[in-house]
Amino acid sequence: MTTVLLMGPPGAGKGTHAGHLAGHLGVPVISTGDLFRRNIAEQTELGRTAQAYLDAGEYVPDEVTNDMVRDRLAAPDARPGFVLDGYPRTLHQAKVLDEILGAQGRSLDAALVLRVEVDALVARLLRRAEIEHRSDDTEDVIRRRFEVYHDQTAPLVDFYAERGIHYEVDASPDVDTVRASVWQVAVELKPAA
Ligand code: ADP
Repeated sequence: MTTVLLMGPPGAGKGTHAGHLAGHLGVPVISTGDLFRRNIAEQTELGRTAQAYLDAGEYVPDEVTNDMVRDRLAAPDARPGFVLDGYPRTLHQAKVLDEILGAQGRSLDAALVLRVEVDALVARLLRRAEIEHRSDDTEDVIRRRFEVYHDQTAPLVDFYAERGIHYEVDASPDVDTVRASVWQVAVELKPAA
């Protein structure tokens, strides 16, 4: 398995586990949230477009996000594979991702969903807010991010389930336990040597 998507609601641990998994697989993480935040910090034109959406907990328009990911997936380091964190998040993005990968002669191996109860997620995000001071980790914006995830991103699970590449991990235990579960899924997907 070398082309994988990590899905899950805000606070599920996508960033943490994307990093671990990518390290194991020897491929880069492609995180749309991180790409947007870097562009905002560097005050690029893309960053100026994205900022208001991030601050409100809304998704950045698909065209903007898709173009950014298309560029990133064309980079040489993504040729052996990648772990996508936070993209695709809408059905339209999922279809565009299929086109991008299809044009490169490949497809997604797995869509791995991290599952955590909502109460635990809110507690995690509020704790993270104290440490990282992310502008979108306030209670109102967190609530909005959950709604948007539920409305726009949760339906993607069915999209990938129909294709037979959907996997689930219980992401409520401690980081090391979840990390082992994620790796277990990755190993089971690996074609036999
Ligand atoms: P979280 O999953 O905790 O919300 P992310 O860092 O993945 O954190 O995303 C932060 C914000 O970046 C989102 O609320 C949204 O505004 C923007 N964003 C990230 N990925 C996408 C995407 N695929 N499409 C549109 N907007 C995105």
